[in-house]
Amino acid sequence: MRRLWPGRTTAGYVAVLTGCFFVAVFAGWWIGPQIDNRVYDRLCQLNPPQPIKTRAVIVGIDDKTLSAMGGPRRLRPMLTKALHRIAEGHPSVVAIDVLLHDQGREPSDIAEDAELAAAIRENPNVILSTNLDADVFEDPAPEFVPPGAVLGHVKADVDSTDGVTRQIALSEASGRRRNWALALEAYRRGNGIREIVESMKDLTVGNLVIPAHAQKYPIRIVYSPDPIPTFSVYDLVNNPDLAAQFKNKVVFLGATSLSLGDRITSPIGAPGHPIPGIEAHAQTFETLERGDFLVDASNLAGLASCAALAILTGLIFAWLSGWAAYLAGAALLALAHFALVLLFRNGIVFPYLAPLTTGWLTFVGAGTYQFFVVRGQLRRSEVERVRYRQAIHFVTHEMRSPLTAIQGSSELMGRYNLNEDKRKQIASMINSESKRLARMIQTFLDVERLADGQMELKREPFAVCDVVHSCMERVRPLAERKSIHIITKESIEGDVLGDRELMEYAIYNLLTNAVKYSPADTEVAVSCKTDSGLLRLSIQDQGMGMDPSELKQIFTRFYRTKRAEASGESGTGIGLSIVDQIVKHHGGRMEVTSSPGKGSCFTVLLPAHATAASTLEIKRPVP
Ligand code: ADP
Repeated sequence: MRRLWPGRTTAGYVAVLTGCFFVAVFAGWWIGPQIDNRVYDRLCQLNPPQPIKTRAVIVGIDDKTLSAMGGPRRLRPMLTKALHRIAEGHPSVVAIDVLLHDQGREPSDIAEDAELAAAIRENPNVILSTNLDADVFEDPAPEFVPPGAVLGHVKADVDSTDGVTRQIALSEASGRRRNWALALEAYRRGNGIREIVESMKDLTVGNLVIPAHAQKYPIRIVYSPDPIPTFSVYDLVNNPDLAAQFKNKVVFLGATSLSLGDRITSPIGAPGHPIPGIEAHAQTFETLERGDFLVDASNLAGLASCAALAILTGLIFAWLSGWAAYLAGAALLALAHFALVLLFRNGIVFPYLAPLTTGWLTFVGAGTYQFFVVRGQLRRSEVERVRYRQAIHFVTHEMRSPLTAIQGSSELMGRYNLNEDKRKQIASMINSESKRLARMIQTFLDVERLADGQMELKREPFAVCDVVHSCMERVRPLAERKSIHIITKESIEGDVLGDRELMEYAIYNLLTNAVKYSPADTEVAVSCKTDSGLLRLSIQDQGMGMDPSELKQIFTRFYRTKRAEASGESGTGIGLSIVDQIVKHHGGRMEVTSSPGKGSCFTVLLPAHATAASTLEIKRPVP
């Protein structure tokens, strides 16, 4: 079903959706990264990367090696022995993840360092590690760096919010010095590639294009749950046959023992069980070998997806209603959840919380808005229905008296042989009553159209005194029946710019009310004064009056006081609401004072024409 809300409702609807959008985007960007990380860690666990024929091998100084080969102080001799063995296996690359920054001072240390340097040289393709600490590279001592060896940085990015290492910068720089990551160098050397070609959005290494942004070229490490083959240095030293397994492999040599530190928390490992740093480098190497990268979507794409979700949800609730809208909205939300997982499976890491919060918030916001608008519309149409019924009632009731007069008079004329004078009198009465009827119909239609905003008010100047006197003449027969005197205390003065017919209707209504709701033998006084551009037309009676709570409601359509109902005077409770409308449309207002049993005074306040002629704008009432 096609539904579009017009005017103010649409503006309100758009405002609600925009508000939801901004709240969601703000919340998404504020707390989003932490939640997004958790979600994507879980997705990493659920969607492990394709297994590959791995070339990486880890040779680790583990607890067994430490306890059997002399403890942490004997690290360099352990490395020396391991490197001898590794060289026997002819690997394609050896990446050493141990910082060889310090040089020994003691003669024994100097001898050990010389042996280590010799062992390093036995391996033709060595990558040594350098660490960027406090903006300074901690390079290995020169004696350890054989000609042709390269340095690779070993700094992994630790997420400051939860201490998890999810990515690594492929390049780290300090001043004009720059080093590629140990894993990238291992990949390059392992594949016999000479050059790494840089661009603003990727790195090209041989046939491999790595999508990463310039300066540091960060990439997400795609951790594989399949273990990388790992050998203990102790086992290797004691079992020379093991070295045969290193043929053409890329060997990562470093510490795996917990007591040597160098551990990182991986997003797929069990919490509280960090993995050795060397494993993170080997996993980075595998990520490069696999060539399947996880790329972060841009912030702009994230923002655009939020906006698209908000707009689509908004359109759904604008074009559909009821269950159809809720179902379509829910389907869109489900699709958004699914799309994010699908994108992840295709290697795109999209902001998670911001779009989904936008989807949920706009769904709830638009749904609630529609619920209340539809309810409001139902209520309004119910009020309209009642109003219409009452209006018909009013018309039939008000028209009855002139119709009865016309009917009775025409019957008299037809049935009896009346003299010329009487006939003329009755004919003129029929004429004036039918005119009154026509006027009444016109007034009623005008007021209805005015209330609907379909009609412009006439703007003609007229003297209030003429209107008041004409109304007084019309009310006089009714007043005489109750022996009520309608008097004017002073002369009626003042001009008004507006619609004479409507104003006459209003004054006539106030006068008939004054007579209707007053006991016999009382007085109704009419006065009209102009002061400082304001015209005050008052109609004071000595009737039944009203208490303050009744006074508050008399301009509400169809309201009648209990006193009025009990008085036996017929009425519909619509007249004063029309009077109020008419006065407001003339840029004026009503004032009423009353007290039960003592009478009421209805005052019409209007801009006077003499002073306001040039400035009076006929105003629309505030609905
Ligand atoms: P109606 O007279 O057809 O009932 P109105 O809208 O003209 O409808 O008036 C609304 C109600 O205000 C009346 O029913 C009556 O209770 C009260 N009211 C209006 N004018 C007077 C008055 N002059 N004195 C006392 N009550 C009045």
